[in-house]
Order: sequence, then C-alpha cells, then structure tokens
Amino acid sequence: MKKIAFFGGTFDPVHVGHLAIAERLLEMFDLDEFVFIPAFHAPHKPDRPPTSAFHRYAMLCLATEDVDRIKVSPLEVEKGEKRYTIDTLSELREQFPDDRIFFVMGGDSWMDIKTWREWEKVLTITDHIVVSRPGYDLNIDHVGSEISERIVDLRGLKATAGRLEKGCHIYLTDAVEMDISATELRIDLSDGKLDLTTMLSPKVAKYVEKYDLYT
Ligand code: ATP
Repeated sequence: MKKIAFFGGTFDPVHVGHLAIAERLLEMFDLDEFVFIPAFHAPHKPDRPPTSAFHRYAMLCLATEDVDRIKVSPLEVEKGEKRYTIDTLSELREQFPDDRIFFVMGGDSWMDIKTWREWEKVLTITDHIVVSRPGYDLNIDHVGSEISERIVDLRGLKATAGRLEKGCHIYLTDAVEMDISATELRIDLSDGKLDLTTMLSPKVAKYVEKYDLYT
C-alpha cells in the first residue's frame, strides 16, 4: 500500500508556500508521492482574464521537475470544466483502491469546508491533511461532533509520532507556517512591486516573465 497526498488548488501561480507544504508533508507523513492537482477553473477577476489552466499546469511541472516524488496530475485540467472536490476524490478512490489517499488543504479552505458540495462525504472517503495558514484560526467546532471525533491534532509536532490511525482521519498540522498568498502575489506582480524570485521557484519566475503573465 502506497501513501499518496493530493493537493488541489488554483495555483495561480504555484508559489514557495505550496512547495514548502509538498516537501514538508512528504517527510512528515512518509509519503510515497505528493501530487498537485491544478483546477481547470481559475477564479474570474473582473479586472483580468483568468490565467489559462495550461500555464498554471506548466508552472507546476517546472516547479516540481527536480523532485521525483512530487508530481502534477492533469486529472482536472483534462476535464475542461469546473470540478467539485467530491468528484475528483471519488475518481481517485477508484483509481487507487489499495492505496492510502490524503487530500491536502490550507487552513482557509478548512474553515470554508461546509460550503463544499457534499462536504461530509469529502471528509469521509479519504484522509485529509489540514495545514495551518498564518492569519486563519484552525477551529474544529464548525464541523460538528461526529467529524471532530476523527480529527488528529498534530500541531506542535514535527513528525506524526506514530499517530497515523486506521480509517479516514483529518490531520491538523502547523509544520509549515508561510504567510504567502497567490492573490497578493499577483497584485504585487502587476504593480511591479515584487522581485519575482523571492516567492517563486526560479524556473517559474522565468516562465512568468517570458509569457508576461501577471503584468
Ligand atoms: P489565494 O491567495 O488566491 O487564495 P492561494 O495562495 O491560497 O491563493 P490556491 O491555489 O488558491 O493558492 O491554494 C491551493 C491550496 O493551498 C488551498 O487549500 C490553500 O488553502 C492552500 N494554501 C495556499 N497558500 C498557503 C499557505 N501559505 N499556507 C497554507 N496553505 C496554503
């Protein structure tokens, strides 16, 4: 049985915060693979067209190409339409029936989880890893007592310390604390305020410049 983490998001663009999560969780959960799944759909902003899924996919491939265990999945991009997490997780469950699947999300997504389609089922068909995010409190009250019984709080720990339990659980970790947001990054880039290389991997920074993506 392999342990595989899937990290869904827009990744517009992938930044060093996303990459730190991948590297840290690989070690902490002793994962066989960590897979980014870029969404087809980018949130539409009134002032600019959404960044093409192909560009976002390409940047993820460039950012991860040197690490064998970190991959990018075309699953959602190939569908060519907006997908719900429940559909993606059901498909992954079928594709990897014998493996242990972890779905990764940041603390902001966790606090919004009840707005997700079939959110209770989402939290039941795979394991989840919730990574705390500066500026967002990681509460557990909003999900109710039945789900909170399956929460394993690893905050304050640098390793899982034998606390990976059987069955689908929700693991909370603060092992990565990076105050970075793709939205703020895009704003700074379009204002010409940011040195590209501080928040992006060098190959992604070069790609953003070459294709003039956020100016
Ligand atoms: P935005 O600022 O536009 O919300 P983002 O930086 O959150 O963008 P997304 O592609 O929307 O990037 O995020 C994908 C996933 O990564 C989400 O689950 C989000 O919560 C998580 N995430 C992103 N940045 C961080 C961070 N600094 N710490 C923890 N989780 C993060």
